[in-house]
Amino acid sequence: MDREDVFQFMEENDVKFIRFQFTDISGIMKNIAINYSNLESALDGVLFDGYAVDGFSRSEESEMLLVPELDTLNIFPWRPQQGKVVRFICDVLSQDGTPFAGDPRYILKKMVAKAAAKGYMFLVEPECEFFLFHTDEHGLPTTQTHDTAGYFDLAPIDLGENARREVCLSLENMGFLVESSHHEVAAGQHEIDFRYDDALKTADNIETFRMVVKIIAQKHGLHATFMPKPLHNEAGSGMHINMSLVRGEQDVLADPNDELGLSKEGYYFIGGIMKHIRGLTALCNPLVNSYKRLVPGTEAPAYILWARKNRGPLIRVPYFKDGRARVELLSPDPACNPYLSLAALLGAGMEGIEKQITPPPEMKANIQDMSPRAIREAGIERLPATLGEALDALEQDALLREILGEHAFRSYLSTKRAEWDSYCETVHPWETGRYLSIY
Ligand code: GLN
Ligand code: MG
Ligand code: MG
Ligand code: MG
Repeated sequence: MDREDVFQFMEENDVKFIRFQFTDISGIMKNIAINYSNLESALDGVLFDGYAVDGFSRSEESEMLLVPELDTLNIFPWRPQQGKVVRFICDVLSQDGTPFAGDPRYILKKMVAKAAAKGYMFLVEPECEFFLFHTDEHGLPTTQTHDTAGYFDLAPIDLGENARREVCLSLENMGFLVESSHHEVAAGQHEIDFRYDDALKTADNIETFRMVVKIIAQKHGLHATFMPKPLHNEAGSGMHINMSLVRGEQDVLADPNDELGLSKEGYYFIGGIMKHIRGLTALCNPLVNSYKRLVPGTEAPAYILWARKNRGPLIRVPYFKDGRARVELLSPDPACNPYLSLAALLGAGMEGIEKQITPPPEMKANIQDMSPRAIREAGIERLPATLGEALDALEQDALLREILGEHAFRSYLSTKRAEWDSYCETVHPWETGRYLSIY
């Protein structure tokens, strides 16, 4: 799409408002609304103050430029269809016109370009889970679901199913290929899977997806949350990441003659991810709450191992009849910054291939049947058990530091350290409940 196409599109579709979107270091989408009458100059870039954006501020120089990527133009199908609202996803530039080093999208673009220089294209398909909860009389989110006993008779129509259906239709309107959608294990929990694409497109899609789910839920009087573990003793929400690597026509990770359908590179790719998984976890599982999902005995992974099937491995190698191959990482959750996470996963997998990092053998036993002692004796390590532990690992990881670049590496660590410290210093209801009367 070029400028002329853009204006033609705007006229044909009666567009009145244009949103310029970008994301902060935590993967939260931000936007600035532009009036159609200002579009001409806005296409060259819109100045904004990066000072208030998480992970952007650089004391002296906080004025930055948002430059839209024209191919990301998309209509919001839920807005009035006369005087339509559209969006662009933008690159963030410094005042001198160079890419801003702290822009997560730029970090992924850089990594994708590095892979492209070696002939690789990284294809990614996410499986995004989330909860739909009721809101209270003030419109604030609760953790009640439409499935909760006592609620069903008040709500004869399943609001959650209707909302999910409208999410799928809206996504399709926006050009997504929705492959499947279903109710998940917990009450009020859903999953929607859309078709794989190259890593940058997929990261953009994940951002767009989260926005669409939240907006449509709100239309239905519900609150959608991607918080990884909203309810104790219920399943958490994961975002499995299915990865493949192609070079031209070649499926790099696949070898139909191998027992598991994996090429040497396929095994090395797994080796690279396993080597860096502790630091990767700080990116793929970014919240204090993320670690309440990654506990033993649930469907989410807690140990660093891989397997063809099995319950609760970290990495799974799904079987394909047609000789293709995918590596599925089960630990990430939908609160992650998809740009940083995918950049880091690609970098770790590629290092595995380049350095020929052989992964440990496939785990055949079922970890869920093993005692903690047997797991220890088998030399199987746990994923970081807290955000603090994961951040320590990230801080030590030279490869991930290089992929994020100094600015994002530092701002991510300091933002997340502050979050972890605040949690650690807070006295939680669990503590007063447990100790107040006894001691
Ligand atoms: N909800 C599970 C998780 O936390 C995944 C369940 C599934 O899709 N099999 O990862
Ligand atoms: Mg799934
Ligand atoms: Mg699922
Ligand atoms: Mg899966």
